[in-house]
Amino acid sequence: MPRPIQATIHTAALHHNLERVRRSTPDAKVWAVVKSNAYGHGIERAYEGLRGADGFALLDLAEAERVRQLGWRGPILLLEGVFELRDLELCSRLNLWHAVHCDEQIDMLATHKTQVPHRVFLKMNSGMNRLGFTPQRYRAAWARLNALPQVDEISFMTHFSDADGPRGIAHQMAAFNTAAADLPGERTLSNSAATLRHSADAAVRADWVRAGIVLYGNAPDHPENSAGHWGLEPTMTLSTKLLAVQQLQAGDTVGYGSSFTAEGPLTIGVAACGYGDGYPRHCPTGTPVLVNGVRTRIVGRVSMDMVTVDLTPLLQSGMALGTDVGFGSEVTLWGRAGNGAVLTIDEVAQPAGTVSWELMCALAQRVPVAVE
Ligand SMILES: *Cc1c(COP(=O)(O)O)cnc(C)c1O
Repeated sequence: MPRPIQATIHTAALHHNLERVRRSTPDAKVWAVVKSNAYGHGIERAYEGLRGADGFALLDLAEAERVRQLGWRGPILLLEGVFELRDLELCSRLNLWHAVHCDEQIDMLATHKTQVPHRVFLKMNSGMNRLGFTPQRYRAAWARLNALPQVDEISFMTHFSDADGPRGIAHQMAAFNTAAADLPGERTLSNSAATLRHSADAAVRADWVRAGIVLYGNAPDHPENSAGHWGLEPTMTLSTKLLAVQQLQAGDTVGYGSSFTAEGPLTIGVAACGYGDGYPRHCPTGTPVLVNGVRTRIVGRVSMDMVTVDLTPLLQSGMALGTDVGFGSEVTLWGRAGNGAVLTIDEVAQPAGTVSWELMCALAQRVPVAVE
């Protein structure tokens, strides 16, 4: 018998969230961003729910090959472009569109031998200061690309640093428009946060949006807004069962480092999930968790294979220990419980000092994954 832990990918929720993006941007095409193995969901597992997108965007050439193997004939965009010359051969063979963010990538294209010219997305560094040509150097890069026989259509791309927060995107939009306004071709600017928060502006929606986290059911701007506020549904449930119950008295402590001390009699459950499964060790006492679909909290330190949970709210709601709750009871670390209750990943990520993106990507290999 394997450990009871299990992740479940919800195909209908992926589909629902994609439709939610389309409602925000009815006139834009949607890249489903499936980098990092579809944000931990598994590209093959997420494919059915996301195949209604107009294209798939990712970073890794091996992942692009997997998308083609699934039978996808439509656009695939390499968000960071190629890393070495021979990557361009795969781009030619699999018809991958790729970002061009630096002179070295243009040099590689200039020496690439191909029958079929490539479609490229010229990336501007409009203020994020990771990848791309500065506005001052953007047109020169465009002119170089435009002169290459290896290049077919040139599209334009930038990435926002603050679409989820108070600084916003105006300064980057201004930089982008100053350098790119009159260049001919399609544009892609928005990530999930810009798509939800700023897409009333047609220039921000542009021709393509790049939707990542929103497809996986999390708010890009948590805690200002919740997934429920944006009408998103959880696409990944991480669930397990109780392995044991302990009765504590005042002064008893729980787990490594005795970080939690009971103030009075307390019933706790021990759930089969720990940081070895990808549940964050940084979750403090008080982090929400569902047991039998009832919201409660974890107590004490998360260990590699176990986490301890307070059963008080269940007992207070009238469930009887041993019959209604005990060994084998359902524990939902995030996602949707059997009774329909939802605990968003955002609510777990925040007390752990991180973001939903990281928790989904960190789902451990040892966790079996089902698709429904
Ligand atoms: C990851 C990524 C996205 C998607 O970001 P979300 O915040 O998950 O929507 C969009 N564009 C680029 C360039 C990315 O790397």
